[in-house]
Amino acid sequence: MKTIFEKSQTGKCALSIAACDVPEYRLEEGILRQEDARLPEVSEIDVVRHYTALSKRAYGVDDGFYPLGSCTMKYNPKLNEEVAALPGFTGIHPLQCPRTVQGALEVMYRLSEKLAEITGMDQVTLQPAAGAHGEYTSLQLIRAYHLDRGDTQRNKIIVPDSAHGTNPASASMAGYSIINIPSGPDGCVDLEALKAAVGKDTAALMLTNPNTVGIFEKGITQIAKIVHEAGGLLYYDGANLNAIMGTIRPGDMGYDVVHLNLHKTFSTPHGGGGPGSGPVGCKKALAKYLPGPIVVKTQEGYALSESSEKSIGRVKTFYGNFLVALRALAYIEVLGKEGIKQAAQLAVLNANYMMARLKGKFPTHSSKICMHEFVVSCEEIKKEIGVSALDFAKTMIDRNMHPPTIYFPLIVHEALMFEPTETESKATLDWACDTVLELLEEAYRDPEAFKKHPCSMPIGRPDEVTAARKPVIIFGRDSD
Ligand SMILES: *Cc1c(COP(=O)(O)O)cnc(C)c1O
Repeated sequence: MKTIFEKSQTGKCALSIAACDVPEYRLEEGILRQEDARLPEVSEIDVVRHYTALSKRAYGVDDGFYPLGSCTMKYNPKLNEEVAALPGFTGIHPLQCPRTVQGALEVMYRLSEKLAEITGMDQVTLQPAAGAHGEYTSLQLIRAYHLDRGDTQRNKIIVPDSAHGTNPASASMAGYSIINIPSGPDGCVDLEALKAAVGKDTAALMLTNPNTVGIFEKGITQIAKIVHEAGGLLYYDGANLNAIMGTIRPGDMGYDVVHLNLHKTFSTPHGGGGPGSGPVGCKKALAKYLPGPIVVKTQEGYALSESSEKSIGRVKTFYGNFLVALRALAYIEVLGKEGIKQAAQLAVLNANYMMARLKGKFPTHSSKICMHEFVVSCEEIKKEIGVSALDFAKTMIDRNMHPPTIYFPLIVHEALMFEPTETESKATLDWACDTVLELLEEAYRDPEAFKKHPCSMPIGRPDEVTAARKPVIIFGRDSD
């Protein structure tokens, strides 16, 4: 397919501007362009066809099964898109006087209340723009908490070896050093290793639950006790909240701070790099360090409270990605308490159904019941016939299935991590399982042919390392 620049023809134009009926104003010389911007010259229909063709090359949740583990690629009700497009919400400005944006303030207030309730936290900020940003914000809260108590030695963050890469990355960016602790044979935190790791220098343990292999950390109250007795805090990576929302709360498990990924759990289409939202909730003891302002309810209506003197300061302009928050509120209000719980239960049921069907053929990381996702390993298959997790993923593309997450978590070799989510029907799950099992037979029948997939795509197997390290993102220029 040609790029829009290659389709450019001098003189073509996609727009016509009405004649100017106000006096012309000329910008100062110093800020004028020296030469014309290098823009493609194309007609309106060229633009429409170009981007329509491009959009057909993309694969999204609305196209088919998308079991990308850890990402919760569930169906996002279109109703919430309509809500987020209402002019009363899209046409306002963050610098407007609070009196004139009471509805928007109410959205933020109500969502914060709901998220506090769902997580068992006391106070929530909606500012962070993504999960990783929420992690970073939380680590700043944790630092502020310790320093404020005169506890200045706590410079280490403990992270299990199964953690998502953003956990150690955020901790490192926040200036902490990282202690990795191994998982036990059951995929859960090894309590003895944790006991050995905590001490006077422990700032916090970062832990998602269910963890990244899809197993609920049953020892969580003990884990909390170990960390707290050492003077550290417990941080909840909320990316896996979809498995437990409405049934159990991080606050009740002993967590002190959480981040949520509204774009995963609460109805914002994601995966294409669009806006996300990573609200942070915390217990009372940390609330004064939260970024401000926070929406409060007064007798005269909703208002913005100045942040406390001890606040870590803003982490994002204005109030975060407001329209993502709005979708989340719509989603939570529509589902209600029971609906939220049912969504989590169905997510767990769907994952277990798939795992049960694949289990005999692929070794799974857990022999027990999984939560909302599960990990199978292609290690044995690779040893036997040389076919890897990557080969399976690439072949699924030819079967109109988005591949699961591969090679994560790192503790499982040749991992395929499936998260079917609650919005898939039994028929779709059966189709997916049949397809994966057929692929397994196909791999054994002809391993060499199997490794040539995908065959139905414009490109098959790009050099992903070079593409990531030396991306060529400007047309007509080589990378350097
Ligand atoms: C997705 C994810 C994150 C990071 O969230 P982003 O919104 O992508 O920044 C952190 N931890 C886990 C377990 C995740 O799955």
